[in-house]
Amino acid sequence: RIVESTGSWYEVAIFDEINQSEGTIEARLPGRFRLDDQQVTNPLAVGDYVELSLNEDGTCSIEDIKERENYITRQATHGRQGEQILAANIDQAFVVQSVRKPKIKEGFIDRFLVTCEAYQLKPVILINKMDLAGEEGQAYVDELIELYQSLDYTILNCSIFDEKSLENLKTHLKDKTSVFIGPSGVGKTSILNHIDPNIERKVADVSDYSNKGKHTTTYAKLLPLYFGGYLVDTPGIREFGLVNIEPWELSLFFPEMLEPRQHCKFNNCTHSHEPKCGVIEAYENGEIDAGRYHSYLQMLDSLKK
Ligand code: GDP
Ligand code: ZN
Repeated sequence: RIVESTGSWYEVAIFDEINQSEGTIEARLPGRFRLDDQQVTNPLAVGDYVELSLNEDGTCSIEDIKERENYITRQATHGRQGEQILAANIDQAFVVQSVRKPKIKEGFIDRFLVTCEAYQLKPVILINKMDLAGEEGQAYVDELIELYQSLDYTILNCSIFDEKSLENLKTHLKDKTSVFIGPSGVGKTSILNHIDPNIERKVADVSDYSNKGKHTTTYAKLLPLYFGGYLVDTPGIREFGLVNIEPWELSLFFPEMLEPRQHCKFNNCTHSHEPKCGVIEAYENGEIDAGRYHSYLQMLDSLKK
């Protein structure tokens, strides 16, 4: 599995059958290797599973790539056309928010959930800084837990000062490939440092490299967790925005709208102003949460722009 890439060589995690141990090996992609059907600028990304062959001179070549379960992309940089794959085969994406400082933005969570649905990623909502919640904050988080659980989403909370909550988080990360996404200040770095003290050093190494120009920061890395699993560390991940969704498709990514939208009079109903709209009706009857409907309208607006 590719754990690091510079675009010209790849660090590949392997299981050594002879020594019965895990390790990494450097591999190159032979020039003849092409993936013509992809509209992307990089044929391989971290998280990809590949087949290697050992060359006579002791180097390794990548011979084949396994089909991806999913992948996340961003617009290619440096004026290049198309998209760049940031990471592949991700088991779950965490959206991190903090109950206070900064406060929870439900719109951010809902936008993230839609993006995950579109990318076919399993989302997990993580509310941090529960030590700052107070009674009011706790009640608010309880409401959010009820809402998102009713929509079949996984929602967790934690505090870096609550060991038990971090242990619980570890059980969700164990043996999975996860990515953490969220605005700055919510505690992503702190959480990761608390669950695996090695992470801090590893993250620091990456930026050290880039300072020397040895390592281009546009490429992601998979950081191994000591208790099993990987964390995707990618510089471009903050741009994880809305993908290309047509306005009339948006409601397909809101689980609670799937049934009501079948009762709309118009096929291309956007559930915002149209008469005889099943979604508006469900919202007015209280079957769709007001905050969620508000998030829907905001996203619809930005898609139309
Ligand atoms: P990031 O930008 O998301 O990586 O956030 P940081 O990890 O840099 O944390 C931002 C600030 O929040 C720092 O001052 C942390 O010490 C603080 N912080 C992180 N987690 C918690 C928490 O669970 N409780 C409290 N009270 N503060 C936290
Ligand atoms: Zn409608």
